[in-house]
Amino acid sequence: MENPALYLCADGLGHLGTEQNPGARQRPGLKRRTILRATAALALGTLTGLLLPAVPGGAAAPAALPFTEVAEGIFVRFGVHEEVTATNCGAIANIGFIVGEDSVAVIDSGTTRAQGLALREAVAAVTDKPISHLFTTHVHFDHSFGLSAFADLELRSIGHRNLPRALAERGPFYSEMLAGICPDFAGTVVVPPGETVDDKLEVDLGNRPLRITAWPTAHTNTDLTVFDVKTGTLWSGDLIFAERLPTLDGSILGWLKVLDELLPEEVVRVIPGHGPVSDGRAALASERRYLETLRDEVRMAIREGLDIPETLARIGSGNPQHWQVFEHNHGRNIVSAYTELEWE
Ligand SMILES: [Zn+2]
Ligand SMILES: [Zn+2]
Repeated sequence: MENPALYLCADGLGHLGTEQNPGARQRPGLKRRTILRATAALALGTLTGLLLPAVPGGAAAPAALPFTEVAEGIFVRFGVHEEVTATNCGAIANIGFIVGEDSVAVIDSGTTRAQGLALREAVAAVTDKPISHLFTTHVHFDHSFGLSAFADLELRSIGHRNLPRALAERGPFYSEMLAGICPDFAGTVVVPPGETVDDKLEVDLGNRPLRITAWPTAHTNTDLTVFDVKTGTLWSGDLIFAERLPTLDGSILGWLKVLDELLPEEVVRVIPGHGPVSDGRAALASERRYLETLRDEVRMAIREGLDIPETLARIGSGNPQHWQVFEHNHGRNIVSAYTELEWE
């Protein structure tokens, strides 16, 4: 990523602020890069202003939220629909594990080492079987930064082929920012997965086969899903958001394409990256409606010659689908879509 700051609210951090960008009226050739730079500066400034005062006297953030069994042998800690704060310390995504006859697979590790350790404790409370696999659904910190909590275990830590590079590019920037927001981030070190997937992979936890798919660029360029054949449960990562506004950090056109293939009939249950478990069809339809509307409105703005601030002014407000954590993130999605679609 040429500019990590643009993505700082990818999963609920901070404010984009682009609509105030004074460098917006550039000729088209200069527009993109200039706006991204200015956006980064504004985003950093706003982040400091908005989030740092929220630290309540350095109080430690709770790592532990309850785990719920959503299907036989599948346990989920549901994230909260909030921006990242000192209190939630990034526990905003769904993370959890699947128990087989021989071993356990963890899916996503949370934002901090403490959240990863809490996940290990939750596994130990359910079974004494070892954790054999650790899957990371994508690069965003709320899903991937707890990996170091598992570093002392002999297991297969697996991610998309693009994940190691993406973590290396973003890790330092996000770590510094998260350390400034929440005391509980202390001791967290970003580590890459030990193994990557190009396309598909099958593993077995003991009478519990899992099918892993690495997807083309969609929500991010590191999206990976885990399908539990036994219960027909798809762990979708952020390819599906339920209730919380989808955040676009990959390709809007690519994401819409992936949605066409994401839920074959054998999928009877979806654990989304954010939001409640369901059969996934309504959640996917809502997300598709949001992304298609965004695509169509941004295309129209580009066709009419509007620049990014003008586009934000036209379509940046209003939330007809009542998404949670909409403010700030919708504007960011518009910028992402614009910078992709202006080159069509
Ligand atoms: Zn997420
Ligand atoms: Zn994400």
